[in-house]
Amino acid sequence: KLVSREFKRNNTVINVGGVEIGGSKPIVMAGPCAVESMEQLMESATAVAKAGAQFLRGGAFKPRTSPYDFQGLAEQGLKMLREAADANGLKVVTEVVDQRSIETVASYADVLQIGARNMQNFQLLKEVGRAGKPVMLKRGLCATIKEWLNAAEYIMSEGCDDVIFCERGIRTYETYTRNTLDLSAVAAIKELSHLPIVVDPSHGTGRRSMVRPMAIAAIAAGADGLIIEVHPHPEVALSDGEQSLTPADFEEVMADIKRVASLL
Ligand code: PEP
Ligand code: MN
Repeated sequence: KLVSREFKRNNTVINVGGVEIGGSKPIVMAGPCAVESMEQLMESATAVAKAGAQFLRGGAFKPRTSPYDFQGLAEQGLKMLREAADANGLKVVTEVVDQRSIETVASYADVLQIGARNMQNFQLLKEVGRAGKPVMLKRGLCATIKEWLNAAEYIMSEGCDDVIFCERGIRTYETYTRNTLDLSAVAAIKELSHLPIVVDPSHGTGRRSMVRPMAIAAIAAGADGLIIEVHPHPEVALSDGEQSLTPADFEEVMADIKRVASLL
């Protein structure tokens, strides 16, 4: 299989306009859960760039649990992402939720994100594999490592060599945390695949207080990077405020990550 370590012995390094994912230095993607307004996004982008992140994250199409929750700003949100990222020297990673919006999302984003809920949407995986952009594949809520690898295989089989895994927690019997962050997945993916893997401690825990320790642990475990939710005013966030860091919290986490990475 194309994803397997047997197929390719050396680690894949993905170059996104000069930013290397899977190289010697961990990368950080950060920003709000959802793009809410230009002001919110610009404030987020400025803060995460200043703290040392390489990517701006933010959803313009949000796969919300309830249809009555904020669904995102769609193409208007994509435009804002591009503008805020460019103004701060950042790359853009954002989710694509269906086939018909792939081309539009790909025209603004540097990395296309497949969300946990779409990890086994095989038609979407195939088409995103033909979009000509790197793809970040989040682990499904109940997906085994094998199912996750097969999902990546769907993308690669369409000609895309640049797939990044993202561990974002899985559903278990535990309810204290939003999901159970499976850091052993980092080691498992490193054994089984040559592709890079990043960790999402925000969705992985659902709790702001737990983002820092899990971010540190992920880097120590060998993750190639992190994706972290940061909001200038988490208390008024339209989604995932409880797990979003303030810019000040994020700066501290970035300093910790650098310290841990320097020990590896
Ligand atoms: C997200 O990163 O915005 C998101 C919706 O995450 P997940 O697909 O992991 O739930
Ligand atoms: Mn979120």
